[in-house]
Amino acid sequence: MKHTNKAPVHTAEIITIGDELLGGQTADTNFIHLAKRLRDFGVRVVRHVTVGDGEDEIVTALREAVRREKLIIVTGGLGVTPDDRTRAALARLAGVPLVPDHELLREIEVFFRDRKIRMPSLNIAQALLPKGARKIANRVGLAPGIRMEVRGSLLFSFPGVPVELHALTEDGIVPFLKSRNGELPSLERELRTWGRGETRVAEILKELEEGEPRLSISYLPEDRGVTIRFKSGGRPRTSRFDPESFREDLDRWSDSAADLLGDAVYSTRREELEEVVGYLLVLYRKTVAVAESCTGGKIAAYLTSVPGSSAYFRGGFVPYHAETKISSFGISPEIISEKGTVSEEVARGLAEGAREQTGADFGIGLTGIAGPDSVEDKPVGLVYCALATSKETAVFEWNVIGNRARIRDRAARSALNLLRLHLIRGGGR
Ligand code: AMP
Ligand code: MG
Repeated sequence: MKHTNKAPVHTAEIITIGDELLGGQTADTNFIHLAKRLRDFGVRVVRHVTVGDGEDEIVTALREAVRREKLIIVTGGLGVTPDDRTRAALARLAGVPLVPDHELLREIEVFFRDRKIRMPSLNIAQALLPKGARKIANRVGLAPGIRMEVRGSLLFSFPGVPVELHALTEDGIVPFLKSRNGELPSLERELRTWGRGETRVAEILKELEEGEPRLSISYLPEDRGVTIRFKSGGRPRTSRFDPESFREDLDRWSDSAADLLGDAVYSTRREELEEVVGYLLVLYRKTVAVAESCTGGKIAAYLTSVPGSSAYFRGGFVPYHAETKISSFGISPEIISEKGTVSEEVARGLAEGAREQTGADFGIGLTGIAGPDSVEDKPVGLVYCALATSKETAVFEWNVIGNRARIRDRAARSALNLLRLHLIRGGGR
């Protein structure tokens, strides 16, 4: 059979390298990133191997991968400290020496000269490449990516630092896959929801799922809510595959699901809750301020994680101690002794105080029991959240399940969701 260099790639293997991955100290996020990006181009990862920093281990893993797969992506061990042995392992695998790349060497020298730091002699190693390999420029770090062919397999080797891995994936892998596989229509649709459990969501979508034999739905409970992913059982890249009808199917299914789920859906475009709240505040030209007790600033942290949030976020307060609730928010000591700090009245006082003190259109007040111990004879997970507007203040009582971290996070996100629902239902009023 004639060998063409343009054949589409269907499968790949990923090798991640590092003792810290095997030791459980570092989560293998590089794998997740790579697998996801490959899937965008219809490439299925059929094997994922993690090995430690030993050169022999790396060579063994590479040898086995070359025997199995045509496309292999390696991350980690490309630094210059003695625990970085991927370069040497690649050279050994291919049976070639490591040779200096003079252009790279010059770039590294310039890098240090510009910063007026003496170049550690160890950095010379960054300019070494297995003979015959190609480098892929690294725009966020010093070590370039390496691309080489070994016994009919194509190997990409990238540094382990996640930002560098991300940049090299875009600069090295994506152009390669585009040239081989072409642009695939997006194979998936995703809806992000808040406020309904995974099983309730599945129940709502049951009929839709049963009525569409080719539709496959995954339900993913995540910290950000239940994500619903739609895939088609139809096979892309077959002769009968029609991308246009494929796209239409996916759009139809996700639109129908979004109708069924109503305003539990906060994003159809992989946005976070706080981004969506931000868009809505900008859209309606409204501002918000928060006074949060048991979430300790998390609502403010979410809101301000969005670039440009100073346009609508007036400020946040953390009146944590009962005395501060009294002195800074004018909540009466009698209310606190009668109703407790975790009460409807306190949530209301915080929301109204945040709004009045900053001149924001909306004030959010939140008080609750994050645990592990109950307070004021009230159960762990009890949360009061108030939303103050120019017209009224509404207070909600929630029973949040989980440990301390989860209660705080869910309470903060639920508060964001409350504002989202108010904005979409009231058209910004
Ligand atoms: P290295 O390129 O092996 O020197 O890795 C540099 C740093 O990147 C390590 O200290 C880790 O913190 C991080 N890192 C390496 N491999 C991974 C991976 N697979 N996933 C996430 N982070 C990683
Ligand atoms: Mg390492």
